[in-house]
Amino acid sequence: MTLHAKMVRNLFYPLALVKSGEAATLRYQRELERSQYFAAEQLHALRWRRLQDLLRHAYASCPFYRQRLQSVGFHPDDLRDERDLRRLPPLEKSDIQNHTTDLIARDWPKHDLIRNQTGGSTGTPIIFFLSRDRKCSRAAATLRHNRWAGYEVGDSAAVLWGAPRDRPPQGWRSSLRNWALAEPLWLDAAHLSEAKLRQFRDTLCRRRPKILQAYARVLVLFARFLEHHRLEVPRPHGIISSAEVLDDTERALVERVFGCRVFNRYGCREVSVIASECEAHNGLHLMAEGLWVEIETPQGPAQPGEIGSVLITDLLNYAMPLIRYRIGDLAAWASGSCSCGRSLPRLEKIAGRVTDFLVGDAGQLVSGVFLATYVVAQRPSLGQVQIVQDRPGMVTYRIKPSEQFDALADGEYLRRATQQYLGANAQCELELVEELPVSASGKFLFSRSSVTPAFLCG
Ligand SMILES: [Zn+2]
Repeated sequence: MTLHAKMVRNLFYPLALVKSGEAATLRYQRELERSQYFAAEQLHALRWRRLQDLLRHAYASCPFYRQRLQSVGFHPDDLRDERDLRRLPPLEKSDIQNHTTDLIARDWPKHDLIRNQTGGSTGTPIIFFLSRDRKCSRAAATLRHNRWAGYEVGDSAAVLWGAPRDRPPQGWRSSLRNWALAEPLWLDAAHLSEAKLRQFRDTLCRRRPKILQAYARVLVLFARFLEHHRLEVPRPHGIISSAEVLDDTERALVERVFGCRVFNRYGCREVSVIASECEAHNGLHLMAEGLWVEIETPQGPAQPGEIGSVLITDLLNYAMPLIRYRIGDLAAWASGSCSCGRSLPRLEKIAGRVTDFLVGDAGQLVSGVFLATYVVAQRPSLGQVQIVQDRPGMVTYRIKPSEQFDALADGEYLRRATQQYLGANAQCELELVEELPVSASGKFLFSRSSVTPAFLCG
Protein backbone atom coordinates (compact mmCIF):
# COMPACT_ATOMS: atom_id res chain seq x y z
CA MET A 1 0.00 0.00 0.00
CA THR A 2 1.33 3.44 -0.87
CA LEU A 3 1.79 6.16 1.74
CA HIS A 4 -0.90 8.16 -0.05
CA ALA A 5 -3.38 5.27 0.17
CA LYS A 6 -2.58 4.90 3.88
CA MET A 7 -3.16 8.59 4.52
CA VAL A 8 -6.44 8.56 2.63
CA ARG A 9 -7.73 5.52 4.48
CA ASN A 10 -6.66 6.52 7.96
CA LEU A 11 -6.84 10.28 7.88
CA PHE A 12 -8.41 12.14 4.98
CA TYR A 13 -11.38 9.86 4.46
CA PRO A 14 -12.48 9.67 8.13
CA LEU A 15 -11.97 13.44 8.45
CA ALA A 16 -14.11 14.13 5.39
CA LEU A 17 -16.90 11.97 6.83
CA VAL A 18 -16.81 13.76 10.17
CA LYS A 19 -16.84 17.13 8.41
CA SER A 20 -19.87 16.22 6.30
CA GLY A 21 -21.79 14.85 9.30
CA GLU A 22 -21.51 11.31 8.00
CA ALA A 23 -19.25 9.78 10.61
CA ALA A 24 -21.90 7.07 11.14
CA THR A 25 -20.45 5.50 7.98
CA LEU A 26 -17.41 4.42 10.00
CA ARG A 27 -19.56 2.77 12.67
CA TYR A 28 -21.63 0.96 10.03
CA GLN A 29 -18.42 -0.14 8.36
CA ARG A 30 -17.16 -1.76 11.57
CA GLU A 31 -20.54 -3.38 12.21
CA LEU A 32 -20.83 -4.78 8.70
CA GLU A 33 -17.32 -6.22 8.77
CA ARG A 34 -18.32 -8.17 11.87
CA SER A 35 -21.85 -9.19 11.04
CA GLN A 36 -20.97 -10.78 7.68
CA TYR A 37 -19.40 -13.64 9.69
CA PHE A 38 -22.26 -14.01 12.20
CA ALA A 39 -23.70 -17.49 12.56
CA ALA A 40 -26.74 -17.85 10.31
CA GLU A 41 -29.18 -17.79 13.28
CA GLN A 42 -27.58 -14.68 14.75
CA LEU A 43 -27.78 -12.89 11.42
CA HIS A 44 -31.39 -13.95 10.97
CA ALA A 45 -32.29 -12.71 14.46
CA LEU A 46 -30.73 -9.31 13.73
CA ARG A 47 -32.59 -8.96 10.45
CA TRP A 48 -35.90 -10.15 11.86
CA ARG A 49 -35.69 -7.63 14.68
CA ARG A 50 -34.98 -4.89 12.15
CA LEU A 51 -37.93 -6.00 10.05
CA GLN A 52 -40.28 -5.90 13.04
CA ASP A 53 -39.02 -2.48 14.06
CA LEU A 54 -39.43 -1.14 10.54
CA LEU A 55 -43.02 -2.40 10.23
CA ARG A 56 -43.95 -0.82 13.55
CA HIS A 57 -42.39 2.45 12.51
CA ALA A 58 -44.09 2.43 9.09
CA TYR A 59 -47.45 1.62 10.64
CA ALA A 60 -47.11 4.38 13.22
CA SER A 61 -45.61 7.06 10.98
CA CYS A 62 -46.48 6.57 7.30
CA PRO A 63 -50.10 7.18 6.25
CA PHE A 64 -49.62 4.92 3.23
CA TYR A 65 -48.60 1.87 5.27
CA ARG A 66 -51.12 2.52 8.03
CA GLN A 67 -53.87 2.44 5.44
CA ARG A 68 -52.42 -0.47 3.51
CA LEU A 69 -51.85 -2.67 6.55
CA GLN A 70 -55.30 -1.91 7.87
CA SER A 71 -56.85 -2.75 4.51
CA VAL A 72 -55.56 -6.32 4.81
CA GLY A 73 -56.30 -6.52 8.55
CA PHE A 74 -52.65 -6.65 9.51
CA HIS A 75 -51.01 -5.18 12.60
CA PRO A 76 -47.19 -5.17 12.96
CA ASP A 77 -47.56 -7.17 16.18
CA ASP A 78 -49.04 -9.97 14.03
CA LEU A 79 -45.68 -10.56 12.39
CA ARG A 80 -44.48 -13.93 13.65
CA ASP A 81 -42.90 -15.55 10.62
CA GLU A 82 -42.33 -15.00 6.93
CA ARG A 83 -45.78 -16.24 6.01
CA ASP A 84 -47.24 -13.27 7.89
CA LEU A 85 -45.06 -10.91 5.92
CA ARG A 86 -46.49 -12.27 2.66
CA ARG A 87 -49.92 -11.06 3.67
CA LEU A 88 -48.74 -7.52 2.88
CA PRO A 89 -49.28 -6.54 -0.74
CA PRO A 90 -46.02 -5.74 -2.60
CA LEU A 91 -45.15 -2.09 -3.05
CA GLU A 92 -45.28 -1.37 -6.78
CA LYS A 93 -43.41 1.39 -8.56
CA SER A 94 -46.75 3.04 -9.30
CA ASP A 95 -47.45 3.12 -5.53
CA ILE A 96 -44.31 5.18 -5.04
CA GLN A 97 -45.18 7.48 -7.92
CA ASN A 98 -48.73 8.05 -6.71
CA HIS A 99 -48.14 8.20 -2.94
CA THR A 100 -44.68 9.71 -2.45
CA THR A 101 -45.78 12.06 0.32
CA ASP A 102 -47.75 9.43 2.23
CA LEU A 103 -44.78 7.09 2.13
CA ILE A 104 -42.57 9.60 3.93
CA ALA A 105 -42.60 9.27 7.71
CA ARG A 106 -44.72 12.01 9.30
CA ASP A 107 -42.75 14.78 10.95
CA TRP A 108 -39.48 13.53 9.52
CA PRO A 109 -37.16 16.56 9.58
CA LYS A 110 -37.07 18.16 6.13
CA HIS A 111 -33.31 18.69 6.33
CA ASP A 112 -32.84 14.96 6.77
CA LEU A 113 -34.69 13.97 3.60
CA ILE A 114 -32.19 13.29 0.83
CA ARG A 115 -33.89 13.25 -2.53
CA ASN A 116 -32.93 10.71 -5.14
CA GLN A 117 -34.47 9.29 -8.26
CA THR A 118 -34.11 6.34 -10.54
CA GLY A 119 -32.73 6.81 -14.03
CA GLY A 120 -35.98 5.88 -15.69
CA SER A 121 -34.60 2.78 -17.40
CA THR A 122 -37.85 1.13 -16.38
CA GLY A 123 -39.87 3.75 -18.23
CA THR A 124 -40.91 6.30 -15.65
CA PRO A 125 -38.55 7.64 -12.98
CA ILE A 126 -39.18 6.94 -9.30
CA ILE A 127 -38.53 9.74 -6.84
CA PHE A 128 -37.64 8.65 -3.33
CA PHE A 129 -36.02 9.96 -0.17
CA LEU A 130 -33.54 8.58 2.28
CA SER A 131 -32.26 9.74 5.65
CA ARG A 132 -28.66 10.81 6.17
CA ASP A 133 -28.20 7.78 8.39
CA ARG A 134 -29.27 5.55 5.51
CA LYS A 135 -26.86 7.36 3.23
CA CYS A 136 -24.13 6.38 5.70
CA SER A 137 -25.15 2.72 5.91
CA ARG A 138 -25.36 2.56 2.12
CA ALA A 139 -21.85 3.97 1.80
CA ALA A 140 -20.58 1.47 4.37
CA ALA A 141 -22.24 -1.40 2.51
CA THR A 142 -20.58 -0.34 -0.73
CA LEU A 143 -17.20 -0.18 1.02
CA ARG A 144 -17.64 -3.67 2.46
CA HIS A 145 -18.62 -5.12 -0.90
CA ASN A 146 -15.72 -3.26 -2.55
CA ARG A 147 -13.32 -4.93 -0.12
CA TRP A 148 -14.47 -8.36 -1.34
CA ALA A 149 -13.03 -7.34 -4.71
CA GLY A 150 -9.78 -6.18 -3.11
CA TYR A 151 -10.75 -2.52 -3.31
CA GLU A 152 -9.91 -0.62 -0.12
CA VAL A 153 -10.44 3.04 0.67
CA GLY A 154 -7.43 4.88 -0.77
CA ASP A 155 -6.79 2.46 -3.64
CA SER A 156 -6.66 3.84 -7.16
CA ALA A 157 -9.71 3.08 -9.25
CA ALA A 158 -11.23 4.03 -12.54
CA VAL A 159 -14.95 4.18 -13.16
CA LEU A 160 -16.53 3.63 -16.55
CA TRP A 161 -19.98 4.99 -16.07
CA GLY A 162 -22.80 6.31 -18.16
CA ALA A 163 -24.64 8.71 -15.89
CA PRO A 164 -22.97 12.13 -15.67
CA ARG A 165 -25.02 13.22 -12.65
CA ASP A 166 -23.05 10.71 -10.55
CA ARG A 167 -19.88 12.40 -11.67
CA PRO A 168 -17.96 14.28 -8.97
CA PRO A 169 -17.73 18.08 -9.43
CA GLN A 170 -14.78 19.56 -11.36
CA GLY A 171 -12.38 22.41 -10.51
CA TRP A 172 -9.25 22.88 -8.41
CA ARG A 173 -10.98 22.41 -5.07
CA SER A 174 -12.40 19.19 -6.40
CA SER A 175 -9.01 18.16 -7.73
CA LEU A 176 -7.56 18.62 -4.27
CA ARG A 177 -10.43 16.73 -2.74
CA ASN A 178 -10.10 13.99 -5.33
CA TRP A 179 -6.44 13.63 -4.47
CA ALA A 180 -7.05 13.67 -0.72
CA LEU A 181 -9.83 11.11 -0.94
CA ALA A 182 -8.34 9.08 -3.80
CA GLU A 183 -11.56 9.64 -5.71
CA PRO A 184 -11.73 7.30 -8.70
CA LEU A 185 -10.75 8.45 -12.14
CA TRP A 186 -13.95 9.14 -14.03
CA LEU A 187 -14.39 7.95 -17.60
CA ASP A 188 -17.61 9.29 -18.95
CA ALA A 189 -19.38 6.58 -20.91
CA ALA A 190 -22.63 8.34 -21.70
CA HIS A 191 -21.71 8.87 -25.34
CA LEU A 192 -19.51 6.14 -26.70
CA SER A 193 -17.60 6.26 -29.92
CA GLU A 194 -14.54 4.52 -31.22
CA ALA A 195 -12.44 7.58 -30.34
CA LYS A 196 -13.83 7.57 -26.80
CA LEU A 197 -13.00 3.90 -26.32
CA ARG A 198 -9.45 4.50 -27.55
CA GLN A 199 -9.19 7.38 -25.12
CA PHE A 200 -10.32 5.12 -22.24
CA ARG A 201 -7.67 2.65 -23.19
CA ASP A 202 -4.92 5.31 -23.32
CA THR A 203 -5.99 6.67 -19.95
CA LEU A 204 -5.93 3.21 -18.37
CA CYS A 205 -2.43 2.62 -19.79
CA ARG A 206 -1.25 5.89 -18.27
CA ARG A 207 -2.95 5.71 -14.89
CA ARG A 208 -2.89 1.94 -14.27
CA PRO A 209 -5.73 1.84 -11.70
CA LYS A 210 -5.86 -1.08 -9.29
CA ILE A 211 -9.60 -1.47 -9.67
CA LEU A 212 -11.87 -0.93 -12.61
CA GLN A 213 -15.51 -0.32 -11.82
CA ALA A 214 -17.85 -0.31 -14.74
CA TYR A 215 -21.38 -0.28 -15.86
CA ALA A 216 -21.84 -3.83 -17.18
CA ARG A 217 -22.96 -2.91 -20.71
CA VAL A 218 -20.09 -0.46 -21.15
CA LEU A 219 -17.61 -3.02 -19.86
CA VAL A 220 -18.71 -5.64 -22.37
CA LEU A 221 -18.62 -3.14 -25.19
CA PHE A 222 -15.14 -1.94 -24.17
CA ALA A 223 -13.86 -5.52 -23.91
CA ARG A 224 -15.25 -6.37 -27.34
CA PHE A 225 -13.61 -3.28 -28.75
CA LEU A 226 -10.19 -4.09 -27.20
CA GLU A 227 -10.33 -7.69 -28.36
CA HIS A 228 -11.45 -6.81 -31.84
CA HIS A 229 -8.57 -4.35 -32.28
CA ARG A 230 -6.10 -6.54 -30.38
CA LEU A 231 -5.36 -3.72 -27.94
CA GLU A 232 -3.83 -4.48 -24.55
CA VAL A 233 -4.49 -2.71 -21.27
CA PRO A 234 -2.64 -2.93 -17.94
CA ARG A 235 -4.07 -5.68 -15.82
CA PRO A 236 -6.16 -4.37 -12.90
CA HIS A 237 -6.40 -6.29 -9.63
CA GLY A 238 -10.12 -6.76 -10.14
CA ILE A 239 -13.16 -5.45 -11.97
CA ILE A 240 -16.45 -4.62 -10.31
CA SER A 241 -19.24 -4.88 -12.82
CA SER A 242 -22.30 -2.98 -11.65
CA ALA A 243 -25.87 -2.09 -12.48
CA GLU A 244 -26.49 -5.27 -14.37
CA VAL A 245 -24.97 -8.70 -14.00
CA LEU A 246 -22.75 -10.14 -16.71
CA ASP A 247 -23.69 -13.55 -18.01
CA ASP A 248 -21.07 -16.32 -18.25
CA THR A 249 -20.03 -15.55 -21.84
CA GLU A 250 -19.68 -11.83 -21.14
CA ARG A 251 -17.73 -12.53 -17.96
CA ALA A 252 -15.36 -14.85 -19.84
CA LEU A 253 -14.79 -12.17 -22.46
CA VAL A 254 -14.03 -9.46 -19.91
CA GLU A 255 -11.75 -11.70 -17.83
CA ARG A 256 -9.87 -12.77 -20.96
CA VAL A 257 -9.36 -9.23 -22.20
CA PHE A 258 -8.42 -7.62 -18.87
CA GLY A 259 -6.62 -10.62 -17.38
CA CYS A 260 -8.31 -10.42 -13.98
CA ARG A 261 -11.42 -11.61 -12.17
CA VAL A 262 -14.78 -9.91 -12.49
CA PHE A 263 -16.88 -9.33 -9.36
CA ASN A 264 -20.51 -9.08 -10.38
CA ARG A 265 -22.56 -6.66 -8.40
CA TYR A 266 -26.30 -6.18 -8.36
CA GLY A 267 -27.76 -2.93 -7.16
CA CYS A 268 -30.18 -0.16 -7.88
CA ARG A 269 -30.56 3.45 -6.98
CA GLU A 270 -33.45 2.88 -4.58
CA VAL A 271 -31.51 0.68 -2.16
CA SER A 272 -27.92 0.90 -3.45
CA VAL A 273 -25.91 -2.34 -3.39
CA ILE A 274 -28.19 -5.38 -3.16
CA ALA A 275 -25.73 -8.24 -3.61
CA SER A 276 -22.15 -8.81 -4.72
CA GLU A 277 -19.76 -11.61 -5.45
CA CYS A 278 -17.10 -12.40 -2.88
CA GLU A 279 -13.66 -13.80 -3.69
CA ALA A 280 -15.20 -17.28 -4.06
CA HIS A 281 -17.34 -16.12 -7.05
CA ASN A 282 -20.07 -18.50 -6.00
CA GLY A 283 -23.24 -16.44 -6.35
CA LEU A 284 -23.85 -12.93 -4.98
CA HIS A 285 -24.02 -12.34 -1.21
CA LEU A 286 -26.87 -10.11 -0.11
CA MET A 287 -26.37 -6.89 1.78
CA ALA A 288 -28.51 -8.80 4.26
CA GLU A 289 -28.17 -6.59 7.34
CA GLY A 290 -29.89 -3.74 5.51
CA LEU A 291 -32.20 -5.52 3.10
CA TRP A 292 -34.85 -8.17 3.49
CA VAL A 293 -35.14 -9.82 0.10
CA GLU A 294 -37.90 -12.15 -1.06
CA ILE A 295 -38.18 -13.97 -4.37
CA GLU A 296 -41.77 -14.61 -5.27
CA THR A 297 -43.26 -17.00 -7.81
CA PRO A 298 -46.96 -17.36 -8.63
CA GLN A 299 -46.88 -20.49 -6.42
CA GLY A 300 -45.30 -18.75 -3.45
CA PRO A 301 -41.71 -18.20 -2.30
CA ALA A 302 -39.11 -19.45 -4.79
CA GLN A 303 -37.03 -22.51 -3.97
CA PRO A 304 -33.25 -22.30 -4.54
CA GLY A 305 -32.57 -22.17 -8.28
CA GLU A 306 -36.14 -21.20 -9.08
CA ILE A 307 -36.55 -17.83 -10.78
CA GLY A 308 -39.05 -15.38 -9.38
CA SER A 309 -39.77 -11.70 -8.91
CA VAL A 310 -37.54 -9.83 -6.44
CA LEU A 311 -39.20 -7.96 -3.55
CA ILE A 312 -36.99 -5.81 -1.36
CA THR A 313 -37.58 -4.33 2.06
CA ASP A 314 -35.06 -1.67 3.03
CA LEU A 315 -34.56 -2.30 6.75
CA LEU A 316 -32.66 0.90 7.45
CA ASN A 317 -34.42 3.74 5.63
CA TYR A 318 -36.86 5.13 8.17
CA ALA A 319 -37.38 8.39 6.28
CA MET A 320 -39.33 6.69 3.49
CA PRO A 321 -39.71 2.98 4.14
CA LEU A 322 -39.82 0.65 1.15
CA ILE A 323 -41.53 -2.55 2.22
CA ARG A 324 -41.81 -5.50 -0.17
CA TYR A 325 -40.83 -3.23 -3.04
CA ARG A 326 -41.09 -4.92 -6.42
CA ILE A 327 -37.89 -3.86 -8.05
CA GLY A 328 -38.77 -5.28 -11.46
CA ASP A 329 -36.01 -7.89 -11.66
CA LEU A 330 -36.06 -11.64 -11.69
CA ALA A 331 -33.59 -13.66 -9.63
CA ALA A 332 -33.01 -17.05 -8.02
CA TRP A 333 -31.55 -18.07 -4.66
CA ALA A 334 -28.31 -20.05 -4.53
CA SER A 335 -28.33 -23.19 -2.43
CA GLY A 336 -25.78 -24.36 0.14
CA SER A 337 -23.18 -22.18 1.80
CA CYS A 338 -20.20 -20.26 0.46
CA SER A 339 -16.62 -21.36 1.06
CA CYS A 340 -15.70 -17.81 2.16
CA GLY A 341 -17.43 -18.36 5.51
CA ARG A 342 -19.86 -15.45 5.25
CA SER A 343 -23.38 -16.28 6.35
CA LEU A 344 -24.99 -13.64 4.11
CA PRO A 345 -27.55 -15.42 1.88
CA ARG A 346 -26.68 -15.60 -1.80
CA LEU A 347 -28.42 -15.06 -5.09
CA GLU A 348 -27.48 -17.54 -7.77
CA LYS A 349 -28.42 -15.41 -10.70
CA ILE A 350 -30.17 -12.25 -11.68
CA ALA A 351 -32.11 -12.22 -14.91
CA GLY A 352 -34.00 -9.64 -16.81
CA ARG A 353 -32.26 -6.32 -16.52
CA VAL A 354 -32.04 -4.91 -19.95
CA THR A 355 -30.81 -1.64 -21.20
CA ASP A 356 -29.26 -1.06 -24.51
CA PHE A 357 -27.26 1.29 -26.61
CA LEU A 358 -28.66 3.32 -29.45
CA VAL A 359 -26.61 4.08 -32.53
CA GLY A 360 -26.42 7.64 -33.84
CA ASP A 361 -26.25 8.89 -37.41
CA ALA A 362 -22.43 8.66 -37.49
CA GLY A 363 -22.22 5.31 -35.73
CA GLN A 364 -21.73 6.80 -32.24
CA LEU A 365 -23.29 5.01 -29.31
CA VAL A 366 -25.61 6.56 -26.76
CA SER A 367 -26.69 4.59 -23.73
CA GLY A 368 -30.39 3.95 -23.28
CA VAL A 369 -29.99 4.83 -19.60
CA PHE A 370 -28.57 8.18 -20.58
CA LEU A 371 -31.54 9.03 -22.78
CA ALA A 372 -33.92 7.77 -20.12
CA THR A 373 -32.35 10.03 -17.52
CA TYR A 374 -31.66 13.14 -19.54
CA VAL A 375 -34.42 13.17 -22.09
CA VAL A 376 -37.46 11.20 -20.99
CA ALA A 377 -37.26 11.60 -17.21
CA GLN A 378 -36.92 15.38 -17.57
CA ARG A 379 -40.27 15.58 -19.31
CA PRO A 380 -43.04 14.02 -17.22
CA SER A 381 -45.73 14.98 -19.74
CA LEU A 382 -44.40 12.27 -22.05
CA GLY A 383 -45.63 9.50 -19.78
CA GLN A 384 -43.97 6.16 -20.45
CA VAL A 385 -41.64 5.90 -23.37
CA GLN A 386 -39.85 3.08 -25.08
CA ILE A 387 -37.25 3.61 -27.77
CA VAL A 388 -36.96 1.14 -30.59
CA GLN A 389 -34.27 1.20 -33.22
CA ASP A 390 -33.54 -0.93 -36.25
CA ARG A 391 -31.23 1.33 -38.22
CA PRO A 392 -28.52 3.83 -37.21
CA GLY A 393 -29.63 7.40 -36.70
CA MET A 394 -33.33 6.53 -36.70
CA VAL A 395 -35.41 5.80 -33.64
CA THR A 396 -39.05 5.22 -32.90
CA TYR A 397 -40.45 6.53 -29.62
CA ARG A 398 -43.33 4.39 -28.47
CA ILE A 399 -45.29 6.56 -26.12
CA LYS A 400 -47.96 5.71 -23.63
CA PRO A 401 -48.86 9.36 -23.07
CA SER A 402 -49.66 10.98 -19.74
CA GLU A 403 -52.74 13.20 -19.47
CA GLN A 404 -50.55 16.27 -19.98
CA PHE A 405 -49.11 14.93 -23.23
CA ASP A 406 -48.95 17.56 -25.95
CA ALA A 407 -48.29 15.98 -29.33
CA LEU A 408 -46.84 19.14 -30.83
CA ALA A 409 -44.61 20.36 -27.99
CA ASP A 410 -43.54 16.92 -26.76
CA GLY A 411 -42.94 15.74 -30.33
CA GLU A 412 -40.72 18.75 -30.98
CA TYR A 413 -38.88 18.13 -27.72
CA LEU A 414 -38.09 14.54 -28.75
CA ARG A 415 -37.05 15.56 -32.25
CA ARG A 416 -34.61 18.10 -30.86
CA ALA A 417 -33.27 15.67 -28.26
CA THR A 418 -32.78 13.01 -30.93
CA GLN A 419 -30.67 15.36 -33.02
CA GLN A 420 -28.76 16.55 -29.99
CA TYR A 421 -27.78 13.06 -28.84
CA LEU A 422 -27.88 10.91 -31.95
CA GLY A 423 -26.59 13.47 -34.45
CA ALA A 424 -27.84 16.39 -36.52
CA ASN A 425 -29.13 14.07 -39.23
CA ALA A 426 -30.83 11.66 -36.84
CA GLN A 427 -34.55 11.22 -37.27
CA CYS A 428 -37.36 9.98 -35.12
CA GLU A 429 -40.91 8.79 -35.30
CA LEU A 430 -43.56 8.96 -32.60
CA GLU A 431 -45.95 6.12 -32.09
CA LEU A 432 -48.72 6.51 -29.53
CA VAL A 433 -49.74 3.26 -27.88
CA GLU A 434 -52.21 2.23 -25.20
CA GLU A 435 -49.87 -0.29 -23.62
CA LEU A 436 -46.14 -0.77 -23.86
CA PRO A 437 -44.72 -4.22 -24.47
CA VAL A 438 -42.98 -5.85 -21.55
CA SER A 439 -40.00 -8.17 -21.84
CA ALA A 440 -40.16 -11.88 -21.05
CA SER A 441 -38.83 -11.07 -17.59
CA GLY A 442 -41.85 -8.91 -16.87
CA LYS A 443 -39.68 -5.84 -16.97
CA PHE A 444 -40.45 -2.93 -19.15
CA LEU A 445 -37.70 -2.33 -21.69
CA PHE A 446 -36.62 1.23 -22.06
CA SER A 447 -34.72 0.90 -25.28
CA ARG A 448 -34.04 -1.82 -27.74
CA SER A 449 -31.70 -1.55 -30.66
CA SER A 450 -30.95 -4.24 -33.19
CA VAL A 451 -28.19 -2.18 -34.79
CA THR A 452 -24.59 -3.34 -34.39
CA PRO A 453 -22.12 -0.47 -34.51
CA ALA A 454 -19.68 -0.70 -37.40
CA PHE A 455 -16.52 -0.53 -35.33
CA LEU A 456 -17.45 -3.68 -33.42
CA CYS A 457 -17.86 -5.98 -36.36
CA GLY A 458 -15.62 -7.27 -39.12
ZN1 LIG B 1 -18.69 -15.99 -0.28
